[in-house]
Parts: sequence; C-alpha cells; structure tokens
Amino acid sequence: MTDLVLASASASRRRVLEAVGLSFTIDPPRADEEAAKASLRAAGLKPRDQADALAELKALSISRRRPGFIIGADQMLAIEGEVLDKPKDMAEARAHLMRLRGKTHELLSAAVVARDGAIIWRHIETPRLTMRAFSDAFLDDYLEQAGEAVLSSVGAYQLEGPWRAIVCARGWRLFLCARHAAFAASGFSPRTRDCCAMTITGATKVLALIGDPVSHSLSPIMHNGWIADYGLDAVYVALPLQSDSAESEIRAFCRFGLAGANVTVPHKREAASAADRSEGVVANVLRWEKDGSVSGFNTDGLGFLDALSETAPDWKTRVRRVLMLGAGGAASAIAEALGPHVDTIHFANRTQSRADAAADALRAGRVLRWDDLERGFGAADLIVQATTLGMSGSPSPNWPMHAAKPSAICADIVYKPLETPFLAAARARNLVSMDGLGMLIHQGARAFELWFGVKPDVQKARARLIAALP
Ligand code: NAP
Repeated sequence: MTDLVLASASASRRRVLEAVGLSFTIDPPRADEEAAKASLRAAGLKPRDQADALAELKALSISRRRPGFIIGADQMLAIEGEVLDKPKDMAEARAHLMRLRGKTHELLSAAVVARDGAIIWRHIETPRLTMRAFSDAFLDDYLEQAGEAVLSSVGAYQLEGPWRAIVCARGWRLFLCARHAAFAASGFSPRTRDCCAMTITGATKVLALIGDPVSHSLSPIMHNGWIADYGLDAVYVALPLQSDSAESEIRAFCRFGLAGANVTVPHKREAASAADRSEGVVANVLRWEKDGSVSGFNTDGLGFLDALSETAPDWKTRVRRVLMLGAGGAASAIAEALGPHVDTIHFANRTQSRADAAADALRAGRVLRWDDLERGFGAADLIVQATTLGMSGSPSPNWPMHAAKPSAICADIVYKPLETPFLAAARARNLVSMDGLGMLIHQGARAFELWFGVKPDVQKARARLIAALP
C-alpha cells in the first residue's frame, strides 16, 4: 500500500498527481462538507481561509484513521467578496456565468498535507481570471456544448479534464486573461509567468521550431513553460518551412541571430549542413554562438536514453538485444545512441532497403524481415516502436506482443495518442512500457540546457503536455 493518500474523489486532482508520476491511494473523506462550509461562513471566515480550513478538514479526517501523507485540497471561487458554490442545475450554471461575465474573479486553491493527525505542509494559491464580456448567444452555445460537465465546477466552466476536446477550447474562450488558470483549475499552481504578463521587448530572445508541419507541435508549450519557470526574457515560436532548399533558407535564417532553434521533419539533415559545425549529419537543435556562428546538435537519441533510464533505471544490465520497428530518422537516432550499450539492434521496416541502410551504419545493426516480427518480438529485451503506425489517424497492425518475453521493455515514440495500440498491448501483458512523451520532453530538456545552461524540470513539462494533449 502506498504512503501517499489523496483525500478527494475529484478526477482532476487525481489526474494532476498521475501526470507527475506519483503513486498514491484515493480515500475520499466522509465529512459533511456542506455543513462544514456553512459553519465556516457563519463564523465569518474570509473565502481564502474557508478554502484552507476545508482542505485541512479533509486531510485530517483521513489522517486520524490511517498512516501516510494525506493530501487534502479545496477550491473556492470568490467574486466581489462573495463565494460561489457549484451550480445545482444548468439554470444556475447560466446564472453563475452571467455573474462572472466581464469581471475578474479569484479561484482560491488550497492544499495541505497531514501526517499522523497533524498538518505538516500547507499552501494557498490565488489565481485571478478575467472573463470576456461574451454574448448571450455565445453562452447558450457554450452551455449546450459543455452539457452537465460544468455542474462539477464552482465557476460552471471547465479548463481541464477528459472533456477538453469539447469543452476546454470553448472554456478558454470564456476568458480574456487567466493567471495560472491551467493549474488553478486542478488546484495546483506552479509559479509560472501568467499569459497576459508576457512582455515582448526589443531585447526578447527568440527561439524557433522549424519544420513542416509544426502547428501540431507540443514544443512551444514545453519550452515557453520552462522559459516562464526560469523568468527568462525569451519566447519560443513554431515556424513552418515548406521548402525543397531548406539548407539555404536555414542558413539565411542564421543571420537573424536567434537564440536557438529546434529543427524537425523534414529538415533535420539540412539543419546539420546549414550549421557551421554539427555533431552529426542530422541535427534537431541549432545554437547561435557569441561569435555569430551556429552549432548543430542531435538530442533525440540521448533524450530517448534519458527517458528509458527514467522508466527502467536498470536497462543497461537488462537490454542486450533490441528490436527497432522502423528505420526512419527517429529510429536511426535512437539506435545510434543505444548502439554502444547493447549487442544487437534488429531493424524491421516496411521498406527493406531503409532497414539495410540503417543497420549498415551501426556495429550492432542487423536486419529482420517485416513479415518476421513474431520472431523479433520473442528475442528482444527492448522493443522500440519508431514508425508512424498507431499515430492518431494512422492504422496500427496487430503487433505480435504475445511473443514478447515477460521481461521485455516496450517503448513507443508516438505520443499522439499517449496510449498507442502498441503500448496498450504491452500493458495488457504487464510489460514495462514507456510512452512517447518521455523522449519528447528529454530531448527538449537537453536542447533547453544547450541554449540556456539550465536543466529544466521535466515533471512540470510532463504535467503541462498531458494537459495539452487532446
Ligand atoms: P520518418 O523518418 O518519416 O520515418 C517513418 C517510419 O515509419 C519509417 O520507418 C516508415 O517506413 C514507417 N512507416 C510509415 N508508414 C508506415 C506504414 N503504413 N506501415 C509500416 N511502416 C510505416 O519519421 P521519424 O522522424 O522517424 O518519426 C517516426 C515517428 O516517431 C513519428 O510518428 C514521429 O512523430 C515520432 N517521433 C517522436 C519523437 C518523440 O520525441 N517522441 C521524436 C521523433 C519522432 P518506410 O521506410 O517503409 O516508409
């Protein structure tokens, strides 16, 4: 049984803890929350103190009857000194939103940790959110689309959770400005720079993601999140580059004196050639040096190894034989990084000639026929899914996961969706599995360190990216 207990039945609080990789038990308090709220109000406590007292009550009610670290949390919405409760029905939800329209309110978010019947930590964050003066028609449309999901939120709006695809985009459109709103919604708030306080000046350093397409990329969320965490005067933007002569365009770009760039498909080779020096023939990171020259790096492979070490810290002693599904750019970068640590890497690829070329480039490289996957799954200690198969909108074959060894580690580098058919099959067999966000975040963290000299917080990035995934 875990030492950490969440004293709440809230699905969004559960997801926040899951997103940062914590192992915990859920034990919702049985205290009469409504009665407690009423007595706190009657006692004349300020909304902030009410939220704090309710979080404490929830944590202590569990802590008195079980050991461990018990997390209690509460969130209250205060507007013009008054506290709004969760709406009881859609009519009340409409009334709440009319009340909030065009005004700024506070989401008082309190969290405490109790142990052995005593509070050992407490924190309150007060994000301020300003709603747009939206029209009645917009409100009707929003409520119709959002449905009764809004009844579970004090403000009758939802900025997170599994409703994101239908509700969140609309939920965000309610706001003009949301200080820490993404975290406020879940009751936890890192000290991020808020969206409306970002000031771009002539001195602001620009970093870019160059590729085609880039509009779907999670990198801007990841890097701008870290830029805000460290209070840096910089901004990271995505620049689509459709070109058959990307090398000359990237070279021209170099004259603009960016602080740094990521380069993604299909221009990673051109990025390496455009740089004045590059650690390999493929580069996903460019860094502008003080003398104006540009250096190229490839953080994909090492980012994968960082993520693998996080998932299976003992992989270097466990993994001798690797099965690499795919032989594209990502597969080759990962294989190059794995190469020195393993005996063999078998490439299985739809197009055999690409598998041959990838295998030829490595001492440990071997080729497995694409129609012989079952044998490959049975022999591998690590299976890496590095094709585009299983990506949202792309088909996925019936992977022969039944043949995998019980000790096999299964990694998929696709992260949209996070749970690919490949990972679902691995998890159904209780195999150690790793999703594609790990590699994305760790390659990004290495790039960020190359640009700014700071190792950023990968767990924060994971929570942000999970919240941003559809
Ligand atoms: P790439 O160079 O274009 O390679 C694509 C690979 O997928 C090739 O091996 C290709 O096989 C295979 N493939 C495509 N369609 C297929 C199909 N219908 N059946 C069988 N195989 C098929 O792309 P990449 O840059 O290596 O990226 C591969 C995947 O990894 C993408 O989904 C990308 O988003 C993801 N990725 C994730 C990260 C991360 O940080 N998590 C980083 C980089 C890439 P053929 O050679 O036969 O065409």
